[in-house]
Amino acid sequence: MTSFDPGIGAGMDVGLKPVVLIADDVPANIHQLAQLLKDDYRIKVATDGRRCLDLVRRRPRPDLVMLDIEMPQMDGYEVCRQLQSDEKTKVIPIIFVTAKNQVSDEEHGLKLGAVDYITKPFQPVIVEARVKNHIALKRQSDRLHRMAMRDQLTSLYNRHYLMDIAPRKIGDALRHGYPISLVVIDIDHFKAVNDRHGHATGDGVLREIAALLQTQSRAEDVVARVGGEEFVIFLGHCDLRGGVNKAELVRAALERLRPHQLKVTASFGVAELMPGGEGFESLFQRADTAVFQAKARGRNRVVAAE
Ligand code: GH3
Ligand code: MG
Ligand code: MG
Repeated sequence: MTSFDPGIGAGMDVGLKPVVLIADDVPANIHQLAQLLKDDYRIKVATDGRRCLDLVRRRPRPDLVMLDIEMPQMDGYEVCRQLQSDEKTKVIPIIFVTAKNQVSDEEHGLKLGAVDYITKPFQPVIVEARVKNHIALKRQSDRLHRMAMRDQLTSLYNRHYLMDIAPRKIGDALRHGYPISLVVIDIDHFKAVNDRHGHATGDGVLREIAALLQTQSRAEDVVARVGGEEFVIFLGHCDLRGGVNKAELVRAALERLRPHQLKVTASFGVAELMPGGEGFESLFQRADTAVFQAKARGRNRVVAAE
């Protein structure tokens, strides 16, 4: 993942049991819930509000928080408020489990954004069922989140995600005064691959190229498929010269790749964010113009934008 992680928690560890965090200042209460849930979930526990906040942010991230209200130092309402106000944690469902059984308490908890409110003493089977339902919803929403930012064919980030992250990356670079570069990549004569070998082979070639781009990039780079046979690599802390070097390495690796035993090359355009600042549209436009020049000069080459 990149620096932008929309709070998708343990759902990333597909196949592992979901994680439930239980926060309560009375160990006996924790024990009772843990006994009930331990066969189906991985359990994390906290005996105060601060520790709960701390554990939520650590991996494995919980898929659900079961939160007591009355706790010393920081109560459950405040924990809920803080989790809800952070982009990264607000996707984690919270169930209050509490002895406070006034309608106004429950109303307050739900208004703070909790998905459910369970009063003690509780019926174990009902708690189990509610936990199961909320976790199912959380996992479904994780899946949709992942799908919304990924390209289906290649699993790279998609254009939508790029447009979302790019202004933030640019803003961060300008604020902290470091360079960033954008590499735009367009496969050469890709239409001919489809025409000669069929669309399915074309798809397979795109997948192999995507995998190559991913392995050639660092975790903090954003690699995206932005069009049919057009890709970008967003390079943080990288000036024009660094971007050109990177593009040249990728160009050479692609030339050697021979996806589906075919010789496939691409044309590369590289632009560095103007030190005075510019929008993503403008940065992309300049890199794309450089691609156009690379095509005109014979393809399978890297051209730097002025
Ligand atoms: P150039 O070197 O000038 O870039 O030539 P090109 O043939 O690569 O460029 P053009 O834009 O004419 O054609 C792009 C081709 O990419 C046409 C289209 O069918 C193909 N394409 C786009 N998306 C997909 C896809 O998802 N799968 C497959 N198999 N082909 C795709
Ligand atoms: Mg194209
Ligand atoms: Mg092309």
